[in-house]
Amino acid sequence: MSSSSDIRVRFAPSPTGYLHVGGARTALYAYLYAKKYNGTFILRVEDTDLERSTEESMRMQMQDLKWLGLDWQEGVDSETLKNVGEFGPYRQSQRQDIYQKYADDLLERQLAYYCFLSDEEIDQQKELAKKEGRPPHINSPYRDWPLQKALDYKKESSTQPVIRFKVPKENREYILNDLVRGQVKFQSEVVGDFVLIRSNGMPVYNFCCVIDDSLMKISHVFRAEEHLSNSLRQMMIYEAFNFERPQFGHLSIILGSDRQKLSKRHGATSVNDYNEQGFLPEAMNNFLALLGWSSPKAQEILSMKELVEQFDTDRLNSASAVFDETKLKWVNATHLRALDHKTLWEKLQPYFLKHNFDLPTDLEWQSLSLGLMKTSMETLADAVELFRPLSKGTFQLSEKAKEVLSWESTRPVIEKWVSLVKKCDKLTEEAFGEIQQTIKTECQVKGKNLFMPIRVAVIGQPHGAEVKLLVPLMEKSDLLERAQTALKSCP
Ligand code: GLU
Repeated sequence: MSSSSDIRVRFAPSPTGYLHVGGARTALYAYLYAKKYNGTFILRVEDTDLERSTEESMRMQMQDLKWLGLDWQEGVDSETLKNVGEFGPYRQSQRQDIYQKYADDLLERQLAYYCFLSDEEIDQQKELAKKEGRPPHINSPYRDWPLQKALDYKKESSTQPVIRFKVPKENREYILNDLVRGQVKFQSEVVGDFVLIRSNGMPVYNFCCVIDDSLMKISHVFRAEEHLSNSLRQMMIYEAFNFERPQFGHLSIILGSDRQKLSKRHGATSVNDYNEQGFLPEAMNNFLALLGWSSPKAQEILSMKELVEQFDTDRLNSASAVFDETKLKWVNATHLRALDHKTLWEKLQPYFLKHNFDLPTDLEWQSLSLGLMKTSMETLADAVELFRPLSKGTFQLSEKAKEVLSWESTRPVIEKWVSLVKKCDKLTEEAFGEIQQTIKTECQVKGKNLFMPIRVAVIGQPHGAEVKLLVPLMEKSDLLERAQTALKSCP
């Protein structure tokens, strides 16, 4: 796919779990920004943590991004796992030689060094620093070794060294002009010489991120606020290579309803959970977009097209956003009710299939039933209980129904119901009301003695669905058959 601008925005997940709603929001903002400015949306996989990264997680996250409709033009292809695009490979585990080359360059220019400190020595240094009230920075005796000396030592030594970045000794101020937070100032003294390449040869996040963002010509980086503190180290690396920095936007934290950081304790946090619970991708995008951004037209319901049109960085909000499930349901219900009935019916198929429902194939019936039911639906999954009574073969008398059937007044009510249904030409909602009224007068019953027997005769239970809505959707023969089954259980 072609793009005509220099805007290149990437989403760079670590495949160490599912796609969290926070990650999805980051991806969405990156996608919207790229789309708005006719740029390129790129998926890069940050999988250098070999112990925690899995192919399964990578596939799952890509599947969730696809479900949301956040298609990338460059990155790892979700079907073949091959790299697509000229700046690849897009999996960091396949770029090790690139990082090594850049690390070697820093070593040669004395901006980084091999450090042979053992874990125990590092711990001792940290403890001492703590005792003396100093920041726990590494004080490495290898910092000023000439490179050749370190290389010779490396050959003999049993300790595999790490490569550390040389943080300049004198304190300096680094300034980040963040798209969300404005000007953020950092003091270089808050970090000590940090690791670029681990002793097993694997580079660390901060190093790969800078090399990749630069080589992949990334223009804008949207990421979670928790990465703000990484920016200082990253700015130092940018400077060491004289690379141009992209624009950064550190997005607000997402909190649960109790204003604690959103976590599993709050319920579903993965995009896939929401998919399975029957939320629509367009509703998820709409809801996620509003966690940290607001529409210039003060709209709460926005289509993807409107999001692309209205999204920009000037309305990104640095205050933490609260993930409000009630709002999400409302947003979902609104998108769901706006769907045309054919599309909605198709989206409900997996739910009906899963429960083996046998529902009419007549399109007019489907549309009519959806028209009545969709106002009671917040999620696609809600359709299951609403449509269950309408499926053939689901009629069963519950224990509570049997109790209702044992009342003396019940048999005459159901018998009257049968005779009136037989006579009725078209069982509309009004006709149903009239039938109920006739039974009331003729059988001299009211309240639960009237409503419960009818409900039992229609749905097999005394509580639940709105019978007046269901009856017009049912075939007369089916209704009569159900009533006969109920009558058989009457004394
Ligand atoms: N792999 C990092 C994460 O998943 C990405 C951070 C970034 O976008 O720079 O949090």
